Amino acid sequence: MDLSLSGAALDYRDELRDWVAATLPVGWRDVPVGIGDDAAYVAMRRDWGTMLHEGGWLAPHWPAACGGRGLGVDAQLAFLDVLVAAGAPEPMNTNGMSIFAPALMAFGTDDQRARYLGPMLAHDDIWCQGFSEPGAGSDLGGLTTRAIPDGDGFVVSGQKVWTSYALFAQRCYLMVRVTGVPDGVTMVVLHMDRPGVTVRPLRNLTGSSEFCEVFLDDVTVDADDIVGEIGDGWRVATYALARERSTGLAQRALQLSRELELMNARLHAGGHDGAALVGAFVRSRAVDSTVRRVLATIAEGAEPGMLAPVAKVLWSEGHQAQLATLVEIAGPEVTAAGDGWADWLRALLFSRAETIYGGTSEIQRNLIAKSLGLPSDRG
Ligand SMILES: Cc1cc2nc3c(=O)[nH]c(=O)nc-3n(C[C@H](O)[C@H](O)[C@H](O)COP(=O)(O)OP(=O)(O)OC[C@H]3O[C@@H](n4cnc5c(N)ncnc54)[C@H](O)[C@@H]3O)c2cc1C
Repeated sequence: MDLSLSGAALDYRDELRDWVAATLPVGWRDVPVGIGDDAAYVAMRRDWGTMLHEGGWLAPHWPAACGGRGLGVDAQLAFLDVLVAAGAPEPMNTNGMSIFAPALMAFGTDDQRARYLGPMLAHDDIWCQGFSEPGAGSDLGGLTTRAIPDGDGFVVSGQKVWTSYALFAQRCYLMVRVTGVPDGVTMVVLHMDRPGVTVRPLRNLTGSSEFCEVFLDDVTVDADDIVGEIGDGWRVATYALARERSTGLAQRALQLSRELELMNARLHAGGHDGAALVGAFVRSRAVDSTVRRVLATIAEGAEPGMLAPVAKVLWSEGHQAQLATLVEIAGPEVTAAGDGWADWLRALLFSRAETIYGGTSEIQRNLIAKSLGLPSDRG
């Protein structure tokens, strides 16, 4: 496994670094994930994505035919390192670009790639993920959103929940069950502006509405919007989920050490001793090397396998632990949210979701246990 950057990736990194230094607005640096005014936060990430696209920086590792630069995955790593070092936000379509797009490249048609990848990179289309339902979260097999064949396409009805940024999305990669087909679980592309789609935001404990309920009442889905085959949805979703739990969270995971530096500086400014953060620094290095290993594994054409749940658990629990250490050191100052601590408090609250979304820690641990031949916590 070679994690060093090639000459082409080094050139790309140096040029991108200069471009980011000259282009990234100061007020967009080190904005915690998922907080603040929803529309303003989404607009910032969307504009950032558009700027990166127009500069030709997005998805350097994608094939040129899909809108990338055809560089290696080492250039993707360089992209992430530059953004993290600058405290830049994630482009809005990180979800679509790192979770759904690889699945579309692997299982979709040329026509689908031509129709969807360009607008995704340009941030003309924002994508959301329609997997979870009121009765199907960890156990996605319980999904009941049904797609009834109708003429050339399908009529879809059901309900999704916890759908991040659905309020701002133009497209959704949606899991449905096609009726009349044994195990008809299928991935389709949903156009969010079709009649019958209703999005209702849900307020989370930070006060923002990152996620939503999505109601589907007789919504038409075109036959050419099936990704893969009818009934092949698990294979497509498993491929996508492995990326959600690894490369999809790569920028957030690599950001742990930058956040620790900011945390340390903030503690010192408040007259506190940040020495207790040393354990978190050690954990952040473990997260960092796991994410780099995942990228290198994918670069070699292999699936991340158990590295994906390992990365998910290390990052999400590591992040929660480092924010908990901050509270242990600075205590009531943080929880009272005074004197510049408000963003830290909201980051702490939002981090509670990180061991849930993308698959809970319990589910990840059971996957890891299974791969080691150990029993799950349910026997
Ligand atoms: C901020 C946030 C954003 C999200 N964004 C999206 C999104 O964009 N799209 C989307 O589709 N979903 C999204 N989700 C939903 C997320 O994927 C689910 O919440 C998650 O998969 C858990 O499902 P659940 O909430 O139904 O909980 P449940 O599956 O009901 O689980 C409840 C508890 O039981 C435990 N449990 C369940 N089954 C097992 C088992 N077999 N073994 C051991 N323990 C088990 C779980 O670990 C958990 O502690 C988001 C969630 C959050 C918090």
